[in-house]
Amino acid sequence: MDKCKVIAVTNQKGGVGKTTTAVNLGVGLARQGKKVLLVDADPQGSLTVSLGVKNPDELETTISDLMQIVVDNGILSPQDRGILKNIEGVDLVPSNIGLSSFEVSLVNTMSREFVLRSYLGTVKRDYDYVLIDCMLSLGMLTINALAAADSVLIPCQANYLSTKGLKLLLGSVAKVRRQINPLLKIDGILLTMVDSRTNNAKSIIAALRQTGRDLRVLNTEVPFSVRAAECSVEGKSIFAHDSKGKVAAAYTALVKEVIALEQRNRNRPGAERGL
Ligand code: ADP
Ligand code: MG
Repeated sequence: MDKCKVIAVTNQKGGVGKTTTAVNLGVGLARQGKKVLLVDADPQGSLTVSLGVKNPDELETTISDLMQIVVDNGILSPQDRGILKNIEGVDLVPSNIGLSSFEVSLVNTMSREFVLRSYLGTVKRDYDYVLIDCMLSLGMLTINALAAADSVLIPCQANYLSTKGLKLLLGSVAKVRRQINPLLKIDGILLTMVDSRTNNAKSIIAALRQTGRDLRVLNTEVPFSVRAAECSVEGKSIFAHDSKGKVAAAYTALVKEVIALEQRNRNRPGAERGL
């Protein structure tokens, strides 16, 4: 059985903590001894910048070059996979603005939904976890991420606006399951930037936790903290920036929850047959 788990970190709303979660869950998993590949699937390159790459637009090889090689049926040699190695213990497939025009060109490509999945197929065996940081739309790149993923993790800010958007996202996940990736699971909703002092947040969290049986709200909640906002600017994870703070503690708890979820899934009867 494939030992690597591919998680798409997604929500079509921007500013909800997707990139922050990809970085800190990724680095946190690496700190537990897991081999982790982070994939920046957003033309804004925020994940790339958050891991300390100063000028993504100057990178020679990015995700769009690698996906283009797949589209052209080219061979990806091990040396030429364009992966940046070992930044805070994780590897990174970087991205830059070139991904935006690549997404447009994908529309005319055969098997356009499966390009990222094919690319990851060539590198997955080297990793325990691949985390894909998605962009804020449900366009072709996000569909590629959902087609390549075993599960989705949905960061969500605890306010009404983003909970409304959830419905749209869940609709897309259901469609992807029906049409291209029947085994896609939802790991759950991760509440981010939680300010536990406000009642608004509290009541939404309570309501969210009660919604549908197959929509899990993870136990971990990431608190609001300026420390978290500072680290994306600094190009460091929260573990390098403020290892003793409450956000680092929350992401450590998330790492444990994600590992436990996976173990539970594997131990289910039929799991080895992908059921
Ligand atoms: P997305 O990838 O969904 O657009 P980001 O991870 O980039 O979201 O987060 C949006 C903004 O919120 C960034 O400036 C980030 O630094 C900040 N941020 C993320 N998590 C927290 C947090 N727990 N507390 C405070 N600010 C946060
Ligand atoms: Mg982002």
